[in-house]
Parts: sequence; C-alpha cells; structure tokens
Amino acid sequence: MKQSQMFIPTMKETPADAESASHRLLLRGGFIRQVAAGVYSYLPLGYKIIKKIEVIIREEMDRIGSQELLLPAMQPAELWHETGRWDVYGPELMRLKDRHGRFFALGATGEEVITSLVRDYLNSYKKLPMSLYQIQTKYRDEKRPRFGLLRGREFIMKDAYTFHDSAESLDQSYWEMYHAYCRIFERCGLKFRAVLADSGAIGGKDTHEFQALAEIGEDIIAYSDSSDYAANLEMAAVLDTDITDKGESLPLEKTAGKAIASGAVSISAYWFKTREETVVVFVKSSDEINDVKVKNVLGTDLIESINPESGNPLHPEKGVRVLADNGLKHIAQASFYSEPEAATYNFIDPKRDLPVERYEDLRFIKEGDPSPDGKGRIKFAHGIEIGQVFKLGTKYSEAMNATYLDAEGKARPLIMGCYGIGVSRTLSAICEQYHDEDGMIWPKSLAPFTIHLITVNPKNKDQYDLSEKLYMQFTDQGYDVLWDDRKERPGVKFADSELIGCPVQVIVGKKAADQIVELASRKEKERIEISIKELPLSIV
Ligand code: ATP
Ligand code: MG
Ligand code: MG
Ligand code: MG
Repeated sequence: MKQSQMFIPTMKETPADAESASHRLLLRGGFIRQVAAGVYSYLPLGYKIIKKIEVIIREEMDRIGSQELLLPAMQPAELWHETGRWDVYGPELMRLKDRHGRFFALGATGEEVITSLVRDYLNSYKKLPMSLYQIQTKYRDEKRPRFGLLRGREFIMKDAYTFHDSAESLDQSYWEMYHAYCRIFERCGLKFRAVLADSGAIGGKDTHEFQALAEIGEDIIAYSDSSDYAANLEMAAVLDTDITDKGESLPLEKTAGKAIASGAVSISAYWFKTREETVVVFVKSSDEINDVKVKNVLGTDLIESINPESGNPLHPEKGVRVLADNGLKHIAQASFYSEPEAATYNFIDPKRDLPVERYEDLRFIKEGDPSPDGKGRIKFAHGIEIGQVFKLGTKYSEAMNATYLDAEGKARPLIMGCYGIGVSRTLSAICEQYHDEDGMIWPKSLAPFTIHLITVNPKNKDQYDLSEKLYMQFTDQGYDVLWDDRKERPGVKFADSELIGCPVQVIVGKKAADQIVELASRKEKERIEISIKELPLSIV
C-alpha cells in the first residue's frame, strides 16, 4: 500500500490527556481517534490490527468447535427484566427508549439474548453441548473511561457461551476455552497470566481472568515465582487467609473497630495488604445501598477507589473496593447510608483504634509469602484483564426458564458457561508491552504491515524505481508492505515510521543507483547497508 494514499494521521505532539503509553501511541501513530469520552474510531491502521486479532480469535474458537453468530447490540429491556439485571446492573448499563416508549439496553454482555435464543431450540440433552460466540461491540457506561481503548464505553468484545447437561461437560468446555485463550494470547505475543478470580456480578463459581502483565494495569495479581499458581488479589487473600473462612468474605464486625448497626443490610468486608504501602479493602453488602461514601482518615491519600462518593449504589455483588494508603498507619474510612437505616464503618489506624492482636489476626498476603499451592513464593504484578472465563451454572437458564429434557424426559435448566475477550483492550495491552519512547514495535503476528519501505527522496528517479521494484518483489513474496512514497522530509518519514512500528524497515536512499539499501529492525534500530541481491529471502 502506498502511504501517500493512506489515511494515517500521525501526531508529533503528545496528547495532553493520554495517560498511558498505549493511549498516547495509538493516537500519535494514527491508529485511533477519540470521538467522545471512552468512544473511539479505529482508523485504517488500527482496524487492520483489530482484524488480525479477530482472525486469531476466530481460528482458535473454530478449533474448539465454537460457532460464530452475531447477536444484536440493541437488546429489549424485557430480557434484562427476566434475569433482574435491568435493575441490578446499575448505571453502567446504557439504556435507550424507542419512539413507542419501549426500553432497550445497549448490550454490555450477551447472556440474556443468547439464553432467549437457545431456550426454544436446545430442548433435549441430545442437542448438548453447544458452543456459540460472537465478536460484537459492547457498551458500558464506565464511570471512569480511561487509557484510551483500555477502558472504553464502547468497545469490541468476543463473547462465547456454552450450554451443557452436566457439570462434567461444562468443565470440559471450560478448560477447552481456557486453553484456547492461552493460545490466542500467546499468538498475540502477550506476556500474560491466567489467574483465579472472583466471579463478581455475573454470578457463578469457577472463573479465571487472563491478565496481561503491564505496569499500567488496574488489577494486581499474586503469582508464584516457581509454579503456575496465580490469582487476583481478592482471591489470593481469600485462599491465603483462614479468617475469611475459605472463600466467605470476612465479616466486617470481626475486623473493624467501629461498626454502627446496619439494620436490615448486612455488610461484610475483607482487606489485605498488597504492597508495603497499600491496603485493599473489599466491602460487600447484602443489598443495594445508595450513597456510598468512602473517605480517608488521617488525611492520607486515597490511591484508588471504585464507587466512592459517587452516589452510585453499592452493588450487592460487586461491592466497593478501596485502595488506601499504608496499611500499618492509615486505612480508609467507609460509610454506607441505606435509607432508612444508616451504617457507618470505619477502617481506622489499627495502632490507635483496633486491638493490636486483632489487627495481627489479619494475615495479609505479601510478596515473599509461601504460595498457597505449597510451591514457591508470592510475587505481585500489575495486570490488564484481557479476558475472563466463567462457569455460570444455571443462574441465567433458571431465571429465563431455559430447560432441556434429560434422558428420563425430565426438564432441567441448561448449565452454562460464558467467556469474554476484550478485543480492543487486547490491542491496548499489546501496545503496553510492545513500544519504546518513539512509537510502536508490533509483534510480527499483528503488525499492520510487516515491511515499511521508505523512499527517502521519491523525486529521485533511482530511488523511486528501486523502491517500486522492491515493493513488487516483497509483495510477490507475500509480505504486507507499506511504501512511504510521500514527498515529505526524511525526518518526518523516519519519525512516522517509528510511530507506526512495522517490524522491518527497508530504506531506499542515496545509494539507490548502486542497488544498495538500508535494512533496519524497528526494535534494534540498527541499520545495515545491503545490496539488494543480498537481501535475505525472509527478511522479517
Ligand atoms: P473490568 O474488571 O476491567 O471492568 P470486567 O471484568 O467488567 O472488566 P468482563 O465482564 O469480564 O469485564 O468482560 C469481558 C472482557 O471484556 C474483559 O475481560 C475485558 O477484556 C473486556 N472489557 C470489559 N470492560 C471493558 C471496557 N470498558 N473497555 C474495554 N474492554 C473491556
Ligand atoms: Mg467492568
Ligand atoms: Mg474484572
Ligand atoms: Mg471480568
């Protein structure tokens, strides 16, 4: 493709509000453009990479016998009422009303639609198991859309759903998906960990998250330095701390110094130290509570909190997560108000307010701890959640009356699994792992073009002719070539080439008349002069 004909609006300046490398470089390299907060256009280069990720996903889904379909993004509210999620999902669900006054959700996920689709057809054990997936735009009105494609309000997701007549069959599909996900992320060149996770709002039990390792990642994962053990911190703490009663979250009363009666609403919390300086507090309630206030005591910095001081309901299953400053000295304060009852819980400096022995009862998980599986020591890393696999069980099929007849002719709810991959988020995660200060360095499997052929001065006939010859030759060899034939200054061309990040650059310059070009790898940046006769057959 000739670059003079392509729409690649690169930017010299660093956009002020782009806080992460991926956000910055995707904008600067002309891969994406923002349209509104958390809403982006994929430009030709960015969309090429998205499509390559999708090809990998499709191949691996097909390989495990999952079939692609396409469900609507516009989903009638009635379906969400059937599962109760119209109310439970909260403000993250985008809602709209049609001209007849009927309500719709813009799909944040697809359990309702797919369950309604199969319930009439998957009516016998003979038709099970069944595995279906789609790649479809999803909508979530995230409170804090940020980091470009990492947390969008409109984003591309691959979501798969499986249907079964036994726990064993679900287990088999779950692990097939798990391994397919490993292959997908490996083929994308990502460094990632599959971690045990908490199932959160979606319900169900077994679940793993796929976390791409990156400093910018919002999640913290605990993994063993010498085994496959990896869990997100919420789970690691649950596994590691016997106070939490093997998976039950820790009742707040056992840990907090002050707890004012909560009336009908019961609230539980557990907390643990993530690093020397950080405490994570998870709070869950038995009911939706309005007006959650989480604030600090002792004037310390709240590093991050989800849901605080927002007026958002405290989600019964999601809870609220607070990262507060130094566990040994200061801990955040959380207050919950639920009309008509009010409850205030204080997480206060244990050295002042909590009996010391009780504080020490809390066995925080920390780096260097033995692993839960008896092998190696715990390490922490930041991760970006690029995918998740869930065993849903019968939560949705029961709510939506999706049953099949077993061999005895008895009606039973379909047993389900669901499996998501953030396609657009995966693109960002790859950027986080494959860049330097000058731009992207795409892994071969995903590069928008494999060779960047740069004609330093296209007005020079030798340079232009040699470039054209090489363009044909590389194309014939099966390479995807971007040919910078633009009449631009060399400095602009080289800067753009760094931003675009094709793995190999072939530079046609002054020695074109002698059939000599320069060959450079984007990563190593070293250029070598080479006669075109000596160009290796496979240069990428
Ligand atoms: P997060 O914890 O980051 O909010 P999630 O657990 O809510 O993500 P899932 O419901 O598990 O997300 O959705 C499946 C996948 O979709 C996620 O693993 C993630 O890769 C992607 N995803 C979720 N929310 C977003 C978003 N706002 N922008 C981009 N991708 C997202
Ligand atoms: Mg989310
Ligand atoms: Mg998550
Ligand atoms: Mg998730």
